[in-house]
Amino acid sequence: MNPLIDVILSQYEREGHRIDCVTPMLDLAESDPAALEDLLMESMARDCAPATFLDRALGLLADERLIAVVAAAWERLRCGSANRQVREIVGHALYQACDVLTDDWEALLAATQHHGPAAGFPWRTLPTHVAERWAGALGEANGREDVGRALALLRSRNAAVRDRTLAYLRRATGHAADSWAHEAGIDPLTGAPLHSDYPMHVQFRGAQRKAQLADQTPWRRRLWRLHDTWGSGERSGQTHMGGNLETLCGFCHAPLQRLLELDAQLVGAADNKRLSFGLCLDCCGWNGLGPLFYRHDSRGHPHAHPAQWSEVPAEDVGNSGALMEAEPALVNLGGNRWREQDFGMSNSDENLSRVGGAPSWVQSAQYPQCPDCRATMPFVMQLDSVLPVNDGGILLWGSGGMLYTYWCDHCAVSAHLWQCT
Ligand SMILES: [Zn+2]
Ligand SMILES: [Zn+2]
Repeated sequence: MNPLIDVILSQYEREGHRIDCVTPMLDLAESDPAALEDLLMESMARDCAPATFLDRALGLLADERLIAVVAAAWERLRCGSANRQVREIVGHALYQACDVLTDDWEALLAATQHHGPAAGFPWRTLPTHVAERWAGALGEANGREDVGRALALLRSRNAAVRDRTLAYLRRATGHAADSWAHEAGIDPLTGAPLHSDYPMHVQFRGAQRKAQLADQTPWRRRLWRLHDTWGSGERSGQTHMGGNLETLCGFCHAPLQRLLELDAQLVGAADNKRLSFGLCLDCCGWNGLGPLFYRHDSRGHPHAHPAQWSEVPAEDVGNSGALMEAEPALVNLGGNRWREQDFGMSNSDENLSRVGGAPSWVQSAQYPQCPDCRATMPFVMQLDSVLPVNDGGILLWGSGGMLYTYWCDHCAVSAHLWQCT
């Protein structure tokens, strides 16, 4: 075993969070990446208290080594281990390696209840006979203690049990049943999915990338260079970001800012044209305005929705500056590891700017209603607080949250809102 592993873990056991363990972990990741597997195995053997440097090591593991670590943790958890690192690793595996956990559905349910029920994909392969048995049990239940099981059933997307599950949730939680359906990424009325399964990551390059890195601490720059979500993947689309659009904000009448221009089919549109997502950075999320809505013309350009147009422009609106103009790539990372990412677990390590896939909610799930057809609008894109602006610096959504974009293809209407911690 690499001697640095004992140095790192002994130091952590002795000094706890008073000492920096991220830097020596990154030294290990750069000099002997295979040793990260031993580091995590050893952290379980020593029953270390969970620590962010160990979570970060897990995120940097090569795929096959991650599988080995998760399989060991899962085996121990199922045998009743109360080891803290075992639980922590399984919590991360709900996102990064959930296929390892789908051989024991009751144990998986217990694990998600321990970690919060946010991960959706572990449930997609829930066999129908298990789903039927669980839905049958919900038929008898009235209290809230089966909400976790019901949510797992909704997340399975198994249409045969959806109505019974929603009926239980309405009985047990009242109006909150709709919110639970949104957490599961489905429309409570129709059962239609509200997001796609596989994302493309926005891969920042050139001056944009340089500005992002300049904004980070030295250790995080090292970590981002090693992390798959920032640099790897197969290129599958070209985009244009930043600068102004020709159309105006309905509130302050300033030109809209271009967020991302891309092929409309990438967000599930039937039409094959270019689509520009844009908004007013100064008015989005401020002054109690709620989501901002835009109607798109035949060229795909956004115009302030008539319901959000005031003849007299608002005064005293801030000036966030313009986003740096750049042409980031859209990349497909392949596999299942990064198809679903949790905002909290990412802890600013992972690239969360994505087109498609499941949203990484900062708060609870939120899907606006289309102002034209009243249907729930599907999620199509999220942009993390890593976007450089022209005057240097980085645009933050609120205190540093996430912008979510939605698209109603029937009405050619987009919506944007952000959440922050
Ligand atoms: Zn505005
Ligand atoms: Zn609509």
